[in-house]
Amino acid sequence: MADAAATPPNDTIFGRILRGEIPCDQVYADEHCLAFRDVAPQAPVHILVIPREPVVNLAEAGDQHQQLLGHLLLVAARVARQEGLSGFRTVINSGEEAGQTVFHLHVHVIGGRPLAWPPG
Ligand code: AMP
Repeated sequence: MADAAATPPNDTIFGRILRGEIPCDQVYADEHCLAFRDVAPQAPVHILVIPREPVVNLAEAGDQHQQLLGHLLLVAARVARQEGLSGFRTVINSGEEAGQTVFHLHVHVIGGRPLAWPPG
């Protein structure tokens, strides 16, 4: 999935997860978003929070997404609490240069081990 422009958001792997076409290890769901465990975890806890609306990334989000973006962050904190994390990191990669590989907005929630700074 290399080229955001060539990949309509609904056709990403996360679109397929939202449509129930492929399974996920779900930890939270509501009418606006879904949270599930990352298939290649970078820490003992690694969860992705994604909107049901297929926004490509933060760079493509607009004023109409203000409430949704706030909701995604509150859900990120909620799932971190649910996992018993006392500290955690949230990451949103936007664009290929930043390491985005799935072009459907997602918030990484990472924790369960000491996390170095700055990130790579
Ligand atoms: P990013 O590199 O920020 O676009 O993050 C995409 C993340 O999605 C990576 O951490 C992948 O491991 C994860 N991922 C890809 N496919 C799946 C899947 N089917 N289920 C869960 N996580 C996935």
